[in-house]
Amino acid sequence: MRSISIKLSGGKWIALILVIALLLSLTAPAFAAVPGVDATMEGATEGIVAVAHPKAAEAGKMVLQQGGNAIDAAAAIQLALNVVEPMMSGIGGGGFTMIYLKDENKFTVIDSRELAPQNVDATLFLGEDGEPIPWFERHTSGKAVGVPGTLMGIETALEKYGTMTLSEVIDPAIKLAEEGVELNWINALYIEQNIAKLEQYGTAAEVFIPNGVPLKKGDLLVQPDLAKTLKLIKEHGSDVFYNGEIGEAIVAEVQKRGGSMTMEDMRNYRAVERTPVSGEYRGYEIVSMPPPSSGGLTIIQILKLMEGYDVEKLGLNSVEYLHRLLQAMHLSYADRAKYMADEDFIAVPKEGLINQEYINERRKLINPNYVVGNAEAGDPWKYENKNIDTTAVEQEEKPIGETTHFSVIDQWGNMVAYTTTIEAVFGAGIMVPEYGLMLNNELTDFDAIPGGVNEVAPGKRPLSSMSPTLVLKDGQPFMALGSPGGPTIITSVAQTILNVIDHKLPIQEAILAPRVYSSGYPTVRWEAGIDQDVVLQLMAKGHVFQETPRDIGNVQAVLFDYENNKMYGGADDTREGAVFGVDAVYFVIEEPSKIYLGEQGPFTLKINDVIYPYYDHQMLLEDGTSYILANKLFAGLGLSKEIPEDLKEYTFEEAGNTYLPVRVVAEALDYEVSWDGENRTVLLKKDIHQFSESDEYGYYDEDEFKITN
Ligand code: GLU
Repeated sequence: MRSISIKLSGGKWIALILVIALLLSLTAPAFAAVPGVDATMEGATEGIVAVAHPKAAEAGKMVLQQGGNAIDAAAAIQLALNVVEPMMSGIGGGGFTMIYLKDENKFTVIDSRELAPQNVDATLFLGEDGEPIPWFERHTSGKAVGVPGTLMGIETALEKYGTMTLSEVIDPAIKLAEEGVELNWINALYIEQNIAKLEQYGTAAEVFIPNGVPLKKGDLLVQPDLAKTLKLIKEHGSDVFYNGEIGEAIVAEVQKRGGSMTMEDMRNYRAVERTPVSGEYRGYEIVSMPPPSSGGLTIIQILKLMEGYDVEKLGLNSVEYLHRLLQAMHLSYADRAKYMADEDFIAVPKEGLINQEYINERRKLINPNYVVGNAEAGDPWKYENKNIDTTAVEQEEKPIGETTHFSVIDQWGNMVAYTTTIEAVFGAGIMVPEYGLMLNNELTDFDAIPGGVNEVAPGKRPLSSMSPTLVLKDGQPFMALGSPGGPTIITSVAQTILNVIDHKLPIQEAILAPRVYSSGYPTVRWEAGIDQDVVLQLMAKGHVFQETPRDIGNVQAVLFDYENNKMYGGADDTREGAVFGVDAVYFVIEEPSKIYLGEQGPFTLKINDVIYPYYDHQMLLEDGTSYILANKLFAGLGLSKEIPEDLKEYTFEEAGNTYLPVRVVAEALDYEVSWDGENRTVLLKKDIHQFSESDEYGYYDEDEFKITN
């Protein structure tokens, strides 16, 4: 073959290179796809907000439009949320404002968490009998009210990092309080669910249950007292709150309801600026909330435990994925209970907890086959070369609170992730008379039982789970997200990050994908939408799924496509979330229809006292014999779906479905079988795991999904 050589001059070389580059650009995508981006949508370029209520989102968008930065918009959103979602957050509560300043490449967080007044001690929530005061009484008592921080937090953030003043960003909130806001489906439901609490002290009922009739969807919620309070703040700043008439009204009401807060507590309140915790996950930088929140460290622990697996290959919400994820949660929550509290009072092993070697050691406790028992805390201090003794008291089962989270990116690439709360829905149920603001019950986040790291102490902040989180890639802003939901916040945020980075879902789908939560063996809370076979197979591995699914959290996230400089966002469907971009992207979440699982069947199946989630169309009761769809029964018993030869003769066909008698199958598997006629329940009993000693205490290096290189 003859070789052809062509001589080109310098200019022609450049031209040739350009032609080749052009040809390449026509055949290959210009950039690697950025995870989480919704390719069907035109992204925004001038800023974006994701908020749990459209009216508050509108306030934030307006500020961005006027040239305000992310911090200004966040302040406007929080104040508006106080009006339109008053059961979740407001100036009677506290929160964490996570800030990323693009120009300085700086992360910081303004901690406006409520703190305990001076005149309390570790027995605050114990009754005369030495036992914790019953929950309803405790969480609606003046004792539960922490010194509120939100207003000081907003003011501090604006003064340090904003471009607008408190008196400017408060205007949309005043207007909403004065003119009223139409109640949406979810806020109407929150009122309906909290009637007893709102009526207990009366003042809140006058606003939310006027003339004894609870406001319902479509009704106008007008709040003149709150408008007055906001106007006072517009005029006098936070001084009128911490050092003036609003503070005096708060203190009087708290004392009237059994609390000890004084004006001195109010005057001494300070929002604190803290350095976030951060860790790397698959090349992304995760920046999140340090103590007094357990959020950041626990999220990073969960992610780093999962980093050792090929999560994408495990598959979203598959048995193998959730089995490992739930155990990663158990390990992380065990450490959380033992080591995490307000760092101003207790040393927290912030480095040890997310030290790579420590994580590698902990990961070995994840059993690829069964969940074998509750995880115990590790010894992260070892990885800081320290030996500090801390104690965990038994974690009390208490109702999971709710709060609200929103996220913002501005046109300059600054980001804010802000989780803000009054703890329970409607906080303590105490509204300050004539000032229209709801007071928090944040001090119930302390352990009621003294002795642990999170016991009550004067001036201390209760341990939080709130986790406003930022994700960066190669120094570029990528994502800001967070969620309400008490301790479930942590797993909601971690799962959303996994869904974007590993499972490659666009942000909105990543948020809507059903989630699970388990802070300890064996109970799992789960959202409808997790495949029933997956639930049953996980139960066969020893996880106990709650009988009925329930919503978990309410994630709001914004995302920056750092390759194309476009912004996207996502909002959860458990509230009327809204994602508003300044120049593109605009949607409001509609009330979702409920996922239908099925009705109660003709009988119930309990294995080792746990009810298994089978539904009417999967069960038959024929001539006193209980049948379950063969493949569903096998899933719950941890068998492969193939019907073994010796069981084939027992199958019962109906409407094209194959059923098997529960007793016959269970006895073949050595279960003890009985029938509780009164409750129409088939009871199966056996040590289903049959673990060996080594199973229970072993290290598990063998796992096909582990990443070994
Ligand atoms: N009190 C909770 C915490 O700080 C937040 C409220 C909630 O969402 O439960 O973790």
